[in-house]
Amino acid sequence: MGSVDQAWSGCLFSSGEFRSPAAGGTIAVRDKASGEIFARAGLATEPDVDEAVAAAKAAQPGWAAQTYTQRAGVLRDAAAALAARAKPFRELIMRETGCIAGKADYEIAAATSELMEAASLASRPVGEVLPSSHPGRFSLSERVPVGLVGVITPWNFPLVLGMRVIAPALALGNAVLVKPSPETPASGGLAIAELFAEAGAPPGTTAILPGDVAAGQRLVTHPGIAMIHFTGSTATGRQIAATASGLLKKVSLELGGNNALIVLDDADLEQATMIGAWSSFHYQGQTCITAGRHIVQRGIAERYLAGLAARADAIAVGNTLTDDVGLGPMINSRQQERAQRMLDEAVAAGARVVAGGTSTGPFFRPTVVTDMSRDSQLWTAEIFAPIAPVLVVDTDDEAVAVANDTEYGLVNSVLTGDTARGVQLARRLRAGMVHVNDATPQDEALAPFGGIGQSGLGGRSGGDSNIEEFTERRWLTVTPGPAHYPY
Ligand code: NAD
Repeated sequence: MGSVDQAWSGCLFSSGEFRSPAAGGTIAVRDKASGEIFARAGLATEPDVDEAVAAAKAAQPGWAAQTYTQRAGVLRDAAAALAARAKPFRELIMRETGCIAGKADYEIAAATSELMEAASLASRPVGEVLPSSHPGRFSLSERVPVGLVGVITPWNFPLVLGMRVIAPALALGNAVLVKPSPETPASGGLAIAELFAEAGAPPGTTAILPGDVAAGQRLVTHPGIAMIHFTGSTATGRQIAATASGLLKKVSLELGGNNALIVLDDADLEQATMIGAWSSFHYQGQTCITAGRHIVQRGIAERYLAGLAARADAIAVGNTLTDDVGLGPMINSRQQERAQRMLDEAVAAGARVVAGGTSTGPFFRPTVVTDMSRDSQLWTAEIFAPIAPVLVVDTDDEAVAVANDTEYGLVNSVLTGDTARGVQLARRLRAGMVHVNDATPQDEALAPFGGIGQSGLGGRSGGDSNIEEFTERRWLTVTPGPAHYPY
């Protein structure tokens, strides 16, 4: 990307090196497969956050006052800038997240959709004319921008998870202050800001503040920031919600999941194993919408296990930049060791590994495991690794009960040869998203993406939900005649 020197509110981007004006040090940006440090991002300090907030406060009213045509134009131009840089973006995402080209291309396409849908939001009629109990009064419900939106994002889909918040928030007249994960400061923020700067977003409206807990906490506690939009783990989300709600900020949380893929005995076996493999192994199982639990009816269970194991065994794992592989490295050794520990503990307690189960360096083999206890962490926790735990059940009722037996509620899928049966069962599942006859990982810019229970709080991402998310209502009245009061 940048051969240009560009100043951001909080960070500088310069010839592949990112630094912070307040000299808080740097974050090493690592290629996840080779471990090579290929860039450095400035580490945002609390003064950087304060400075960015001041700049955003100064810039936001003018940005909100621009015509919708101007704001929509910036979003469309950002989409064009992304298209023009698709190749460097693809390589950046592959290196920063350790993914295959297809996942990077997906992120670029999905981020483009987010930008184009957000552009259409800028011109949406927002508000209502209300009947009034006061004769002659003109009573309006208007929508106004929230103001300054703090955006905290994870490392797994850094471009699209940043863009799905940044684009609609900007379209609706807000300024954004983005704290990407320290694993992905470039594709999660600095490279995104470059697109908006090129597209003509006024300085101060898009601040990127790479850092970890300290920078995130300062965003959460800063009195100038009206809303926190957080995507990440449930544990962190809980802490952020407690702090931000205590300060009476608007909070929106997109959190973790332990999603069920239910395979009924009348499902097509080839389809079911393909969907099952994709749902659990795609991007090393490191997505919030990964299937962490395969709930399979007895009539198809043995064939399903064998088919899923065969698919797992056929997947090559390695460096996605240099080798022809289906899966890349785990994001870091902490995630890898955590997943291996959960697997080992389940096996020690009687679980049976049917495929994989091992790792070499950062590369975790896609794994199929069964006969684990329903109390094991492997079954109850979000694993975030390419592991497919398979549990056998008998009836539809049992499948529903097992699927709903979780604190999470992000997404579930049902696979069946009988669509009506699938829809009936889908409606009994407690989750924010349910898919019949497709994989758990699904996302569309217009769809209300989000979870319930420990998987999310607040509004949904996507389409009209974004208007709810990134605006406040204002009641405005105009009274034509003189008012009369007792004193
Ligand atoms: P994480 O919770 O560790 O970190 C997320 C972000 O929060 C990072 O930018 C991190 O630096 C920051 N952060 C951490 N502690 C903080 C604190 N105390 N105050 C402020 N900021 C803080 O999550 P992760 O490991 O980066 O991402 C993986 C998790 O994200 C998984 O649980 C996954 O399910 C979830 N996720 C959810 C969705 C969704 O849409 N529901 C999408 C992607 C990922």
